[in-house]
Amino acid sequence: MSEAVAIRGVVDISDSAFVAPTAIVEDGAHLGRGVKVWHFSQVRKGASIGDNTIIGKGCFIDESVPVGEGSKIQNGSEIYAPASLGRGVFVGPHVVLTNDLHPRAVARDGAVLGATDWHATGCRIDEGAALGAGSVIVCTSVGAWALVGAGSVVTRPVAPHALVVGNPARQIGWVCYCGERVEGECETCGWRAP
Ligand SMILES: [Zn+2]
Repeated sequence: MSEAVAIRGVVDISDSAFVAPTAIVEDGAHLGRGVKVWHFSQVRKGASIGDNTIIGKGCFIDESVPVGEGSKIQNGSEIYAPASLGRGVFVGPHVVLTNDLHPRAVARDGAVLGATDWHATGCRIDEGAALGAGSVIVCTSVGAWALVGAGSVVTRPVAPHALVVGNPARQIGWVCYCGERVEGECETCGWRAP
């Protein structure tokens, strides 16, 4: 699928990747084999998208953000640097990964703050984790195979396989590799809750 027409400059893009005509993939971005970038999405310079990852419509992947292979980033999600996503991460529609714990547009005297006037704190999403629709991850980490409920606001690190919901998100249980809530052992995947 060589329908990439919106490429700007020198981009390392696999022949088997697909970029919608309205998407923007910036200089120095890397798109692996079988990657799809749908309408009106932006992949910033230096971002690295692993093989077979799908980036839906209207997404923003910030500068130098790595996204592991086989991930799914649904429509309208925004991932701000310096985030990192492991393999097989599911990002539901309209999820935001923030990067600023002390946001200000200006100083007290009204001077506009620039990129070097603040410290970015990125999110880390580990392998297999899933972020429900409309959730917000605030400068923290989500462990492998954890599940964040739709609409949650995550302000503290989430343990691997934890199920968290609410604002602020709190752990209410555990999920197995299948994404099912389990109390004992999952009959399908064999994962056992602690
Ligand atoms: Zn299971």
